[in-house]
Formats: sequence, structure tokens, C-alpha cells
Amino acid sequence: SGIPSSPVGASPRRPTRAAVVGWGGKSVRIGGGAPVVVQSMTNTDTTDAVATAIQVKELAMAGSELVRITVNTPEAAREVAAIREQLDRMNISVPLVGDFHYNGHKLLTQFPECAQALSKYRINPGNMGGGKKRDDNFAQMIEIACRYDKPVRIGVNWGSLDHELLARMMDENSAHPQPRDAQAVMRDALVVSAITNAQRAEELGLNPNAIVLSCKVSHVQDLITVYRDLSERCDYPLHLGLTEAGMGSKGIVASTAALSVLLQQGIGDTIRISLTPEPGGDRRREVVVAQEILQTMGLRAFTPMVVACPGCGRTSSTVFQELADSIQTYLREQMPVWKSRYPGVETMNVAVMGCVVNGPGESRHADIGISLPGTGEIPSAPVFVDGQRTVTLKGDGIAQEFQSIVEQYVER
Ligand code: SF4
Repeated sequence: SGIPSSPVGASPRRPTRAAVVGWGGKSVRIGGGAPVVVQSMTNTDTTDAVATAIQVKELAMAGSELVRITVNTPEAAREVAAIREQLDRMNISVPLVGDFHYNGHKLLTQFPECAQALSKYRINPGNMGGGKKRDDNFAQMIEIACRYDKPVRIGVNWGSLDHELLARMMDENSAHPQPRDAQAVMRDALVVSAITNAQRAEELGLNPNAIVLSCKVSHVQDLITVYRDLSERCDYPLHLGLTEAGMGSKGIVASTAALSVLLQQGIGDTIRISLTPEPGGDRRREVVVAQEILQTMGLRAFTPMVVACPGCGRTSSTVFQELADSIQTYLREQMPVWKSRYPGVETMNVAVMGCVVNGPGESRHADIGISLPGTGEIPSAPVFVDGQRTVTLKGDGIAQEFQSIVEQYVER
């Protein structure tokens, strides 16, 4: 029960267990038919508790439902509780996820207040040492997760895959009469690593409903293949993300290409878009992109969407481009207040079009739309509300007047 209906054309969501990640009496459900969760990660130095708390707040306000922070040193672990306290004081209840590599077992043992302040631990089984040491370190982290009743993500990564497991699987493959190519064995090793470590966590006493899996790689087709395989071989909720996706449009396109194929097939319970920030760039970009992927696919709704034409030689000015951009920004900025005041506002569609060719038609299909004048057209901009032409705007104040009409529509 509780599995939402899928958008037209999409496969039903894959049934999974549900992991609950909570803080302060609120909780986020991952899997089990819950809406796909948006998450992000800070890029501040965790030892700077103020800067980290501010960025967590910004990401949460932008719509990140979980925020992961690096916990890499004793100094960082020491600050985690302070970060949590600052967030609590600001009434930001977003759960914090601790990202651990190499020394997580030591940090969680040495800093129990850190273990308690985090709502979930990310464990990378590929960089916990080798042999018995790896097994002991992993067991220590799972024991702490059980003690503090915290869910874990077992996050396997292409760049830090368990060397012993990979070597063993490569040897077995070489000895096989029909060996597969090395890339296929690596993909298989990722999946095997995730599943065997999850099974081991269960054997160590972790509740199976407290486990989320991920197998991140940096190439689109590999990611799709790995997650299809993973989803067929287990029923843990899955965290999707293309790791090292890259900068700018390349990172956005690659992430969207990979995740949309999987989401369309009902695979994926939480997503993170890993974008390399531009110098001085805004970390909230990855939250916006994640939301837009889910919303444009019809899986969730976060903020009213603006439909805008690309413009062409028929457009007489850049007014419509500026209007489309300013309206989308305005709508997004209003959402923290609007979403509690006007339930359902996030499903609203706004059209901003550049000329008469597609302008009136597209505007009629939207909840509210405007068709700006193109080259050679009468300098007026008809506005359409719920499919009906209402007023015609003219002059230099078109943008401001249209924004007022949108506001009135939302209030009404
Ligand atoms: Fe060009 Fe008009 Fe189409 Fe916009 S609606 S792309 S301005 S023809």
C-alpha cells in the first residue's frame, strides 16, 4: 500500500522496504512507495560549524529533504553536535547524514554525541581497510548504528571499490570458459559488494528496514546497467546518483540522462545530483536540478513550472526571456511561504511565450500564460487565465503587471 500511481508512460515504482530517517519528531521515508526523496551534500569544511549550519539551512530551505555532511576528522566529528544544535535553534529539522570514509568506526566510537546528532550514516565498505580489519571496522560501525538506532546507506563507489572482492571476481572470471569483459565484472562487483555488505549488516543485527543502498559510477550507461541489476537482486531502497557528474550543463545532462531512465523504470527512492560547482557557484543548484528532474517527469511537484519558448527571429526583444526568468525565480522564492498557505500551488503551470505562433495556444494550456508581441505584431500581450483570454497588457510595465496577475491567481 501507499505506492503512488506512476505518471503516464512510467513503470510502477519498484516495491522496496522503507527506511525512516528522522530528527526532532519529523521523519523522511525512503522507499516503500514514498515519494522520491531529494538530498544534497554540503561542501563546507565541517570544522566550521557556523558555515556548515548556514549551508545546511540554505539547502534545506531550497528543498533538500536530507543533507549529508563530511565527517572526516576528529575535529569535524567534534563539531557535528554543534551544527545540529544551531540548526535546531533555527527550527531546521532536516536530518543530517554523516559521510564517513576510512575512519568512521573510530570517529563514531570516539564521539558519541556525533553518532547521536546524525540521523543516518553513509558507510563506504570499499575503503575500510582489507581482510579482517575491514570486517571489524564495518562491524563496529554497524554496532554503533544499532546502538543509536540509525539507518545506514551502504554506498559503494566505482572509484573506491573493494579491491579484494574485485580481484577475486576478476580471477574467477579469467578462469571461466567464457570470460566476460572486465567492465562487466566491475559492474557486477559493485552490486555484489553492496548486497553482501547489506546482508552482513543484517547478520550483525541491523534492522533490514534501516538499510539504503547505492552503487555510484560516473558513466551514464554503466549507472543504468548497475542499478537495473541491483534493483532485481534486492528490495532495499536505492539512492541514485551519478558520481563525479561534472560541471555545468555536462553534469546536469549526464545526471538527468541516467536518472530519468531509471526513474522511468520505477527504480530509485532518493536522488542526489552531484554537480561540481562553478567558481562562486550556488550549492543549491543541485537541489533545484533534482527537483526539476522529478517534477518534469511528473513524479513530484515542488514549485510552479514556467513553460517558455526558446525565442527565435520572430521575437522582437528579450523582454519575454527576462520575464520567463524573473517569474520562475519569483515563484521559487515564494514557495517556502506559499506551500503552507496555498496547498497545491506547486502544481501550477505558467506559460511565457515570445510571439503569436505558439503563444496563445501554449498560454491557454497553462493555468496562467502570457503571449508577448513578436516582430511586426501589435505591441500588446494577451494574458490567459484557466484557458480564457482575460486582459491585454501594454507598455513598459508588462512584467510587473503580469507578476501581479500571477500573485492574484495564486491567492484566489
Ligand atoms: Fe519563436 Fe514565437 Fe515560437 Fe517563441 S513562440 S519560438 S518567438 S515562433
